Amino acid sequence: MKEQLLCETSNVKRENVTVQLYPSRFTHRVSHPTFHPANRSNSKANPVLVANEITMTYLGQQGSLEALEGVSLQVGVGEFLCIVGPSGCGKSTLLRVLGGLVRPTSGKVYLGGELLTAPRRQIGFVFQKANLMPWRTVLRNVTLPLEIKGLKAEEAVRQARELLKLVGLEGFEDAYPNELSGGMEQRVAIARALIHDPAILLLDEPFGALDALTREHMNLELLRIWRAKWKTVVMVTHSIQEAVFLADRILVMSSRPGRIEASFPVPLPRPRCLEMLYSDEFGALSKRVRQAIH
Ligand code: ADP
Ligand code: MG
Repeated sequence: MKEQLLCETSNVKRENVTVQLYPSRFTHRVSHPTFHPANRSNSKANPVLVANEITMTYLGQQGSLEALEGVSLQVGVGEFLCIVGPSGCGKSTLLRVLGGLVRPTSGKVYLGGELLTAPRRQIGFVFQKANLMPWRTVLRNVTLPLEIKGLKAEEAVRQARELLKLVGLEGFEDAYPNELSGGMEQRVAIARALIHDPAILLLDEPFGALDALTREHMNLELLRIWRAKWKTVVMVTHSIQEAVFLADRILVMSSRPGRIEASFPVPLPRPRCLEMLYSDEFGALSKRVRQAIH
């Protein structure tokens, strides 16, 4: 029982997993007799999200501010990528560009090989603040994107219930946001982000406002959801420990204007356990990542 609480649960088996990209001709069939993200072999050869030479300059009353400079990166199908860097270096800007929420000043982003110029349903977002509608129940917060899409209410409710179960909120469907803890609110935000069954989840410091123990627990939950749904994840965090614990690979950004300063593969085995936080390997990698942040 204790093991279960301290480790990512590892009982997910999938025979055939389809990662749905956009449009359908970019659909990838990924076969894993025993699903295990660490078994992914071709994620580098088969990037789902590509950014080429991204530059972002904000124009304000004080003049122009260069937030990003020549950022290039590739994210493999099913990869868990974390981005760390000093405050104000452009991490959130980069994530918004990767999600098509803002157009870069120069450079291009490709999703499944297609130029990305606007938000797509294939990309789900979770931000530091859950931004739930206080007058809607948990269930109705999660169904909202489907209601907007015009899906039948019955089907929207069925899908939302399934996702709320996945994120561990079964029994809280009729609660209102003010009745939830911070961790529960973020679970709702994750369920809402998953409602369109996106291929990619972009997370911007989603657990930054949570206390340390809740955050640990949410990290394990996120890994469980990632394994169950076989998503590609790009997550910005200011916690080096969180990045090392979660990621397949960590990108370190320089101070503003943000550039990719260093890249660290994370060789820790999966499933990940909280005990790993205290291993020499974990400590050594955390130190190297920390030393790369200026
Ligand atoms: P981070 O997420 O790494 O803290 P941000 O991407 O939020 O960094 O911001 C990078 C820089 O761009 C900061 O100096 C910030 O003030 C500036 N910035 C962010 N968003 C805007 C905006 N919409 N307009 C003008 N400046 C912005
Ligand atoms: Mg930010």
